[in-house]
Amino acid sequence: MTSGGGKGEKILVSVRVRPRNDKEKTRNDICDWECVNNTTIICNNNLPERSLFPSTYTFDKVFGFDSPTKQVYEDGAKEVALCVLEGINSSIFAYGQTSSGKTYTMSGITKFAMNDIFCYIQKHKEREFTLKFSAIEIYNEAVRDLLSGDNNQLRLLDDPERGTVVEKLIEETLRDRTHLEELLSICETQRKIGETSLNETSSRSHQILRLTIESSRREFSPEGSSTLAASVCFVDLAGSERASQTLSAGARLKEGCHINRSLLTLGTVIRKLSKGRNGGHIPYRDSKLTRILQNSLGGNARTAIICTMSPARSHVEQSRNTLLFATCAK
Ligand code: ADP
Ligand code: MG
Repeated sequence: MTSGGGKGEKILVSVRVRPRNDKEKTRNDICDWECVNNTTIICNNNLPERSLFPSTYTFDKVFGFDSPTKQVYEDGAKEVALCVLEGINSSIFAYGQTSSGKTYTMSGITKFAMNDIFCYIQKHKEREFTLKFSAIEIYNEAVRDLLSGDNNQLRLLDDPERGTVVEKLIEETLRDRTHLEELLSICETQRKIGETSLNETSSRSHQILRLTIESSRREFSPEGSSTLAASVCFVDLAGSERASQTLSAGARLKEGCHINRSLLTLGTVIRKLSKGRNGGHIPYRDSKLTRILQNSLGGNARTAIICTMSPARSHVEQSRNTLLFATCAK
């Protein structure tokens, strides 16, 4: 096994470079990055400070701008996402600066994974499946239910059996694919409304979509009922520019933003998990995001991270930070 967190297994880490957008093309923003093969990306920027940074980076997978989302899913997320069908918890993350393609990538991956899950269920008539779906957004350490339509802040509770749970969270039992599509579109709308009302040009919120699958054999079998239960989380993270370590404390204050505690803690948790059992104490409890995702990250759970970046020179600093994060997660 080459992927997944926990059990001393590696986290599957991929990088996806999006094409230049119209703005970047119009201002003739140079493409600094070249994906030389499907695991290596190099920086061709020969500015003087380049020498301070590595120019070659390797990951489990590197996707250039001609790679469709389907391929990113197949090679960078599918194996981890479909673990849920074997009763193993998993999570897929999109990490990167605002407008680097996190939502574009994660919404595609979510749809491909859900489709594969529904196909699997159709083929396995010998088992009975129950699918539950929930969706939350974390903004400034406040948790809100994307399915509820109100703005109420939800509390986290410690359940002795299930670990951290979100109080009063709506969990919809899925009837079919159409039902799921309806719920996904509600989440999309709710998240946009949230961003618009806060007048945000960059996204400071994390979105977690969670699909829980329970299954058991319909008929008696000598092997037992073999009941399985697990969940897969699709996590569209806040823009990583908020976690930038390059800004001084003063500059951060001037910028008027607080560093995103959840994003910083996630970085620490992932760095420690990637070191396996020798990583020491893992500070899940330091943020809402990592508390909620503890069972999807630790234990025998498996994890995939897709780091998204712009190829443009004007973003080279943020892209390097993203690759640094990806390197620490390997
Ligand atoms: P983020 O969620 O990281 O802020 P988005 O996913 O919203 O970024 O992407 C910003 C814009 O770039 C969107 O208009 C999106 O459609 C486009 N985009 C992102 N990645 C790609 C890609 N790989 N190919 C084509 N367009 C992309
Ligand atoms: Mg987004």
